[in-house]
Amino acid sequence: MELNIEKLGLNGLDENRPLVIAGPCSAESEEQVMKTAHALTGKGVKIFRAGVWKPRTKPGGFEGHGEPALPWLKRVKEETGMLVTTEVATPKHVEAALEAGVDMLWIGARTTANPFAIQELADRLRGVDVPVLVKNPVNPDIELWIGALLRINGAGIKRLGAIHRGFSSIDQKLYRNSPLWHIPIELHRRYPNLPIICDPSHIGGSRDLVAPLCQQAMDMGFEGLIIESHCCPDCAWSDAKQQVTPEVLDFILDRLVVRDNQEFTESLGSLRKQIDEMDDNLLNLLTKRMRISREIALYKKEHNMGVVQTARYSEILDKRCAQGSLCGMSADFVRRIYEFIHEESVRQQMEIINK
Ligand code: PEP
Ligand code: MN
Repeated sequence: MELNIEKLGLNGLDENRPLVIAGPCSAESEEQVMKTAHALTGKGVKIFRAGVWKPRTKPGGFEGHGEPALPWLKRVKEETGMLVTTEVATPKHVEAALEAGVDMLWIGARTTANPFAIQELADRLRGVDVPVLVKNPVNPDIELWIGALLRINGAGIKRLGAIHRGFSSIDQKLYRNSPLWHIPIELHRRYPNLPIICDPSHIGGSRDLVAPLCQQAMDMGFEGLIIESHCCPDCAWSDAKQQVTPEVLDFILDRLVVRDNQEFTESLGSLRKQIDEMDDNLLNLLTKRMRISREIALYKKEHNMGVVQTARYSEILDKRCAQGSLCGMSADFVRRIYEFIHEESVRQQMEIINK
């Protein structure tokens, strides 16, 4: 299904620079909001974010001040001229935010995962002209993300964007939410006109990961960044570990290298041709490997053997991971590839054995 979209059309932005949205995770007090907003505007930030309604994993945390915090955002607009944006999760939030003059809305990751909630938001947004950014759902399901974008777009919201904030995973290591970059890249492949904004704060979950994630997002051609920034990160009532001061934010943005993605040099074209060839070879090799697997299945059938011999499988994983590491790849990456190859190989062998 197609998305019928227009540019986000945010006044006063430099079209040639990445869009930067910055501000605290939560609006905690009028003083904290104003202090942070003044510092950010001093650093050239044009769009201010602050969560007014906060979805928290467990009860008992700070769930946002709700409507009483909206006048603080209004004051930010009046005193700094910045545009303001906040998260909405229910039709009532939409009404209150629009009433207070909030310029742009975003939909949080937990809400995107729920089509009923998204449809209610879409119904409330019908007939309203406001830019809306849709965060990816917490689970790595691109169809759910696209479904939410389609519902909001279907209600007539043409100024639409997506926010990539990473995906929760059971085996988190470095990141709070795994980036799984191939998902936003696939979204971009399917909807090249849809702006995608990276949220390094929620992906990284820690201050020192913000800068490298911002650079990675720029290298991958993301349209912009949404970064949590707080006048006193250590005192933040939510997401303290991942917020940076406006000064640090300025430092990070100053050092960002924004490459011109439109530039398609000849050498890039020839390198891409080589990649296409390599992929061709890879697929041919995989096809041949599967053919041998099927021959093995015939042998196993004749000799009444089971499909999976775990000792052999372990040996393959160990050897390939070690070999991959020697070639400069992460052992984990090689392991995952072989797990997938093995899964497909077992599937094909089962077909033969059950024939
Ligand atoms: C946020 O932006 O502060 C937030 C709650 O984000 P997410 O929905 O990505 O968890
Ligand atoms: Mn947050």
